Amino acid sequence: MSLQDTPRANRLHIGIFGKRNSGKSTLLNAITGQDIALVSEIKGTTTDPVYKAMEIHGLGPCVLIDTAGIDDEEKIGKLRVEKTKETLDKIDVALLVFDGDKDIEPEKQWIKLLKSKKIPIIPVLNKSDLLNDSESVSAYIKENTGFKPVVVSAKEKEGIPQIINSIIRHLPEDFDAQTITGKVVKEGDLVLLVMPQDIQAPKGRLILPQVQTIRELLDRKCPVVCVTTDMLETALKSLARPPAVIITDSQAFKKVYEIKPPQSKLTSFSILFAGYKGDIDYYVKSVQAIENLKENSKVLIAEACTHAPLEEDIGREKIPKLLRQRVGEGLTVEVVSGVDFPADLSPYDLIIHCGGCMFNRKYVLSRIERAKNQNIPMTNYGVVLAYLAGILDKVSLN
Ligand code: SF4
Repeated sequence: MSLQDTPRANRLHIGIFGKRNSGKSTLLNAITGQDIALVSEIKGTTTDPVYKAMEIHGLGPCVLIDTAGIDDEEKIGKLRVEKTKETLDKIDVALLVFDGDKDIEPEKQWIKLLKSKKIPIIPVLNKSDLLNDSESVSAYIKENTGFKPVVVSAKEKEGIPQIINSIIRHLPEDFDAQTITGKVVKEGDLVLLVMPQDIQAPKGRLILPQVQTIRELLDRKCPVVCVTTDMLETALKSLARPPAVIITDSQAFKKVYEIKPPQSKLTSFSILFAGYKGDIDYYVKSVQAIENLKENSKVLIAEACTHAPLEEDIGREKIPKLLRQRVGEGLTVEVVSGVDFPADLSPYDLIIHCGGCMFNRKYVLSRIERAKNQNIPMTNYGVVLAYLAGILDKVSLN
């Protein structure tokens, strides 16, 4: 990724699904205008999903995901299909590729699955260059699935603009509507950011939630002042007026709350990301589950980053320590990172997620959906830290 690139987590995720040899990889190459995916006449060439981040004219920054065939019944093929299914938690729009074969049972099953996940479907009839009568095949698909496909020839690069137009028409309504600082900050507000550059901060650079927040504030014409926690008082004294909003690292919540001017709103990066990537209402409701934790309870901490644990690590050390101080030393805390997230959440009494800045919103929402479906409370780092500091009702939520 170059410095000019949009982080993958902020891109529209488009999944390409279909039977083996239906031309999914050729379609990905045609849409991107590059030879990215390996194309072969041999069935099942694509094994693990292939992710390609790129800019598509008319759509902006996207991630295209090429997947293994949905009709692979062999033992290893079934594992590939499972991997393909895992991508459904991330994608915003699905391209379902038909190739003119009259047996469309696998595609019909897939439509059912995509509908159950509420993923917009764009059916594509590929290989029009090889079909004698693509109109009647298209009518057959419409009759049997209810969907009229976009007719294309990926090989001849025909019909690609029609696919892009269809994606634009099927974009989720709230896609791109979400902002980090949302309602908490107004255009032109003076905003002070408290960003401790402690042992957990990467040497020589800022972490992604801070970078993305600063960029958005600059776009919103906000004067931005950044300080470390120890310089907060000095910064407040040197400002001609109190900041309209203070955004702090959640770990400094209490200290910032104690010295902030009464008229300044207070929030944290993690709380803003709870609204940006997740479901702030569910997080705030779920944090009350802390009251019901007992020594024999089990808490799951889910962190999107996969870094090696650091001293004073917020997810692995600080939050477990604070919870054990409150509940008792016997409390079990398990930590998962990266894409690991259990399908069965029933063993847990509470899930605490990081801000999720490395994941796209769809993926974090899929995890919340899983927790909701199993009646497990799920919250996030910032909400927990504000709650444990006793100031959750004093902070501004998005
Ligand atoms: S993905 Fe999670 S742990 Fe990693 S930087 Fe973002 S909020 Fe922090």
